[in-house]
Amino acid sequence: MKYYSTNNKNEFVDFKTAVMSGLASDGGLFLPDRIPPLSKSFLDELSNLSTIEIAVNIADKFIDDEIENNTLQKIIEQSITFPSPLVELNESFSILELFHGPTLAFKDFGARFMARTMEHFIKDENEELNILVATSGDTGSAVANGFLGVEGINVFVLYPSGKVSKIQEQQFTTLGNNIKAIEIEGTFDDCQKIVKQAFVDKEIIGRKKMSSANSINIARLIPQTFYYFDAFKQNREKDNLIFCVPSGNFGNLTAGLFAKKMGLPVNKFIAATNSNDIFPKYLSSGIFHPKPSKKTYSNAMDVGNPSNLSRIIDLFNNDLDEIKSVIYSNTFSDEETLSAIAEVRNEFEYVIDPHGAVGYLAALDYKKNVTDSSRIIILETAHAAKFADVVEKAIGEKVIIPVRLEECMHKEKQSIMISNDYNEFKNYFIHS
Ligand SMILES: *Cc1c(COP(=O)(O)O)cnc(C)c1O
Repeated sequence: MKYYSTNNKNEFVDFKTAVMSGLASDGGLFLPDRIPPLSKSFLDELSNLSTIEIAVNIADKFIDDEIENNTLQKIIEQSITFPSPLVELNESFSILELFHGPTLAFKDFGARFMARTMEHFIKDENEELNILVATSGDTGSAVANGFLGVEGINVFVLYPSGKVSKIQEQQFTTLGNNIKAIEIEGTFDDCQKIVKQAFVDKEIIGRKKMSSANSINIARLIPQTFYYFDAFKQNREKDNLIFCVPSGNFGNLTAGLFAKKMGLPVNKFIAATNSNDIFPKYLSSGIFHPKPSKKTYSNAMDVGNPSNLSRIIDLFNNDLDEIKSVIYSNTFSDEETLSAIAEVRNEFEYVIDPHGAVGYLAALDYKKNVTDSSRIIILETAHAAKFADVVEKAIGEKVIIPVRLEECMHKEKQSIMISNDYNEFKNYFIHS
């Protein structure tokens, strides 16, 4: 399989190069030159296949012969070690629980698969690889945990000081080993900017082997297509699927678009955003206008310049009407998010996290504005306990913290604090 950059459709790299470099050298994002459809019989047989079998079939389409089947099977078995159950709320809404991984968020799928794919690719090299990752919360913990102890790879997690929850921070600052946490005095966008700049910095490129683990890496997107198929397998209805995706950088939604292109019968995607409303504004006006991110209760979606938008635009050949025919989008405030958490608790006895709650709001909004009786599958992207303070405020009762989350709360935080000045980071990184 060949991959091109969203900035240049005429130059191709192989899967390994796309994974190991993360971002294309021209600053674009990698996309596969074609998204191979799965056979009709694959979809018909889906209910007889295990989650691992489904995943291997899909991944193989994106990777071809660059990783042999036995190895790919092993990578997937070691990555997807947890289920993604579909829970019915009523005849209109179901919840796809993507938080059963080690860090209780959907990013575990991508991070674990990417870590093991990179480990496979660097096995025969003697140079250390440095993973730079900017996080608004969940990416950091998923990536850090995904790479923890992986031979030959160091991870640098850049995060905005004071802008991630205590639990999130503990999850990636207490690991030690090959994981370094860098606390930036600034916003998530500052962190992302520093990472992007480092990747095109010739001086650094000459001295350090780097790769990215943000949702821009194609190895994060591929495993995110798996659970769209897994949801289809569990869903009663087998056509006209609607997925509602709480979105920030739009990696999850892009993976859904891959799944649709591969033949999954999806009718509609609903892109739910918090008050960082760049995408719904883009759909309604046709103008992409990035803004500084705003802090909200659903902070993993606090993104003012969604990086995967260039992929989405490319997948639709820059045809806004086409995009609008497939993706519906709306934005919701923190206040609405709080009442949605309470409503879901009261009506369905389900404790939803703030990101899922924004999804629920968008799903309701879609039902109200569009005549469509199909069931909506809402992606629940994190466990409510990761955002216990917000959820408890909404429902007025304690959220039970799972053991694997509780454990890291008692470990000592280790981080390096630097300003949002690129040169300060560069100086630290070059000498690390
Ligand atoms: C990262 C994240 C999102 C947003 O996903 P994107 O792929 O960046 O759109 C939503 N919810 C949670 C809990 C997340 O961690």
